[in-house]
Amino acid sequence: MRNPAIYSYVVRFGDEALDVGQPDLDRKPLVDAFLPLLRAYVTDTFNRCTFHRERMQNAGFAPHSLQTFVDFERIPVMSSDSATAEFALLTDEHRLAAQDGLLDMPVANRMAKKFTTSGTTGRPKVSYYTQADWDGTIAGTARMLAHIPRENYSRFFNCFHNGHTAGKVWEDSFSRVGCMVENRHFSLQTEEEVLQQIKSGMREKGGFNFLAVPPYFPGGVRKGFTLNGLLEIDLDNYLGSHIRVILTAANWLDDPAYRLRQRMWDANAAAGTPKTQFVDCFGCSEVGTVAGECEYNNGVHLLPGVIYTEVVRADGSHVANGGRGKVLVTGLKHGSRYLRYMVGDEATFVSDPCPCGRTTPRLVHVERVVDQERLSRGCAAG
Ligand SMILES: [Zn+2]
Repeated sequence: MRNPAIYSYVVRFGDEALDVGQPDLDRKPLVDAFLPLLRAYVTDTFNRCTFHRERMQNAGFAPHSLQTFVDFERIPVMSSDSATAEFALLTDEHRLAAQDGLLDMPVANRMAKKFTTSGTTGRPKVSYYTQADWDGTIAGTARMLAHIPRENYSRFFNCFHNGHTAGKVWEDSFSRVGCMVENRHFSLQTEEEVLQQIKSGMREKGGFNFLAVPPYFPGGVRKGFTLNGLLEIDLDNYLGSHIRVILTAANWLDDPAYRLRQRMWDANAAAGTPKTQFVDCFGCSEVGTVAGECEYNNGVHLLPGVIYTEVVRADGSHVANGGRGKVLVTGLKHGSRYLRYMVGDEATFVSDPCPCGRTTPRLVHVERVVDQERLSRGCAAG
């Protein structure tokens, strides 16, 4: 069951252009559909950003030599704790104009979003998105739901704080595709209050049917609101009766200590409703939504478009199918240029065909290996 492109947006670098909202992008050979845009992005970055140009030159890498994905592996890796100043990853033009607030630039080139991640090991990581970058990010994110009937995710409750990267991405992605979106109210203090807001919204239309919520926070940290917490207090089984789709961002749905997926499905069975569809995803504030689950829930499919993702060995070369390594992300953005950036997670790379028909590889067992303390504070999706 597939939807046509529900929100299309064309990303451009140099002479290359790609509609990153089209679900067909997940079913085409990556070399044909995506490599030309990646090459154009690398060339653009080399030409416009001194920081990266010097790194590429020092490594003896010339953008025109990028003919295959293997060539891409010769670009130096950026480690997650490498100290990069706030503006170093911007183009020289943006960097020089920043003091004036970019007011003289075309709107698409002005900054739409800035996210700051408070790493514990060094200075904060900052990521700027231009207006065009943000449109590409939300189009790529919305593609994750292409396999779900639209009527199942039409009324959306966003439990994530919308000052948090994921909260903003969800709000904008799903409102852009036509959902009715409501954010958790900033003043709420308890899960009881959040559940009450969920129960009272959209009542005339049957209530919310789509929920984005963190699964739980490890170590029992009480910060924010979680699916685990909501299920514990949902005594009249409102969630099992109403919620058709749940979006999470953490990779912990099947933790045997919480059994969240199964508990939700038990709630569905008790209510006599179909099983809620889960879409777990993986992303980061530096580049956006990296990967998301399909209908088989067997790992997260990469989302080529505004992001190129690799899983690499210690020497920066790509692991084979089934291999485990560090996750590198490249955000095809006009703002902050995170290029072969080690985001701080490990994963197993799976390129075996998936029964869903997508040709994009999957990541399984994604695990954070740096910033454990940030994770325990509840910023897993941040
Ligand atoms: Zn699949």
